[in-house]
Amino acid sequence: METYDALLASIAPGRGPTRTIHDPATGAAVGEAPEHTVEQLDAAVAAARAAQPAWAALGHDARSAALLKAADAVERSAEELARLLSREQGKPLNGPNARFEVGACAAWLRTAAGTPLPAETLLDDGETRAELQYRPIGVVGAIGPWNWPMMITVWQIAPALRMGNAVVVKPSEYTPLSVLALVKVINEELPEGLVTVVSGGREVGARLAGHPDIGKIMFTGSTATGKAIIRSSADTVKRLTLELGGNDAGIVLPDADPKAIAQDLFWGAFINTGQTCAALKRLYVHEDIYDAVCEELTAVAKAMPMGNGLDESNVLGPLQNKAQYTIVAGLVEDARASGARILLGGDPAADQPGYFYPTTLVADIDNNNPLVAEEQFGPALPIIKYSTVDEAVAKANALDVGLGASVWSPDLQAARAVAARIQAGTVWINRHGAVDPRIPFGGAKQSGYGLEFGVEGLKALGVPQVING
Ligand code: NAD
Repeated sequence: METYDALLASIAPGRGPTRTIHDPATGAAVGEAPEHTVEQLDAAVAAARAAQPAWAALGHDARSAALLKAADAVERSAEELARLLSREQGKPLNGPNARFEVGACAAWLRTAAGTPLPAETLLDDGETRAELQYRPIGVVGAIGPWNWPMMITVWQIAPALRMGNAVVVKPSEYTPLSVLALVKVINEELPEGLVTVVSGGREVGARLAGHPDIGKIMFTGSTATGKAIIRSSADTVKRLTLELGGNDAGIVLPDADPKAIAQDLFWGAFINTGQTCAALKRLYVHEDIYDAVCEELTAVAKAMPMGNGLDESNVLGPLQNKAQYTIVAGLVEDARASGARILLGGDPAADQPGYFYPTTLVADIDNNNPLVAEEQFGPALPIIKYSTVDEAVAKANALDVGLGASVWSPDLQAARAVAARIQAGTVWINRHGAVDPRIPFGGAKQSGYGLEFGVEGLKALGVPQVING
């Protein structure tokens, strides 16, 4: 018996085709997800359209109250949700993983509910009174990835609901059960039809992105799919928020203390076993402290247990799927063949049931090596030596993506000056990837456009309207 059996039963598909979801740690079946069709998507959009006006008419206070209740409902089911998430996605219960993700769902719901968005007086000079308000868009489509399936769904639906919209959610085909279960719990507190999950393949996502009755798409996923969504949204001039891939650089300045920063560097890179959009994916270290940073990071990494997520002792899990495993393994093999030095890992067990790839650190690697230049999205970190800060900044900015970045130094003023030169949506100082529901987050360059979180995130889910007169 699993703690989440009742929850899983409550989302059991009715008639129609299903997809068997497997645990990436063991290969065992976790459950069946419905394989919805585009016709079922159309029905969900119609139901959302019907439910939306009454929801919008409730006003901000009543909608926020419902979101607060939804947060409570998530917390009541937190352990079941975390265990199901761990089995489907692979991430451990402990560490900044499954329980953390469910906790974040409640936190983001509460912040979306509690962030004030008063009407803005633009001009009031006795002759003209112009006021800016944000009206509901209507029905929003939420398309998400498999790495943080519950949290990213909440990032998309919480501001959408707060702003008076209905939502149709299309989860990743790798992790639909987590999203179905989460929305089932949230829906205990919401009117029927307002939020529906349509669990199907890429064709369902493509239909949603082109659907005439969808006013906005919130998308988190790969840059390639983001570009496809931009194209399919064109005919209906849909609003888009695109959170796409990243290949975040971290720059360690020469005065940093290797031992003091090693643990935070590790989690910046290996959170969710490296399967995080804004994880540290290229580490640039000044030559004076290069060996010391490699040594300290190796010591921290060696001590972090990887294994089945339901085992309380583990803090790192498997890759979520075989395709991702193959990408990571291929990039590390190519790096090794090019002469880079493997400090740790790089030798996955041959006959294992799950997609476990060991924590891997790669030193003395060329900046043009694919392990540096491409998004590995897994537990393999390249560490590149630099001589001057100008060189490190140029290398950090050389790619066509720019989601996050970080600068590491006890001298905050110096670190901020370097941060200002980096082309990325967020630059953290002495940490990496720390998102906060009160602080806007979004990408530069091909990492996407539009902001999530905070008041900017609410505005992105509304239609700005000026009343002038
Ligand atoms: P993906 O782009 O393959 O899939 C994401 C979603 O898009 C899935 O639900 C998929 O079914 C759907 N989809 C596929 N084709 C579509 C189409 N033509 N139209 C509409 N929808 C379509 O991404 P993934 O592999 O699930 O996720 C990993 C990627 O996501 C990584 O690149 C990662 O960096 C990125 N990511 C970004 C953020 C961020 O906030 N920037 C967060 C998490 C992940």
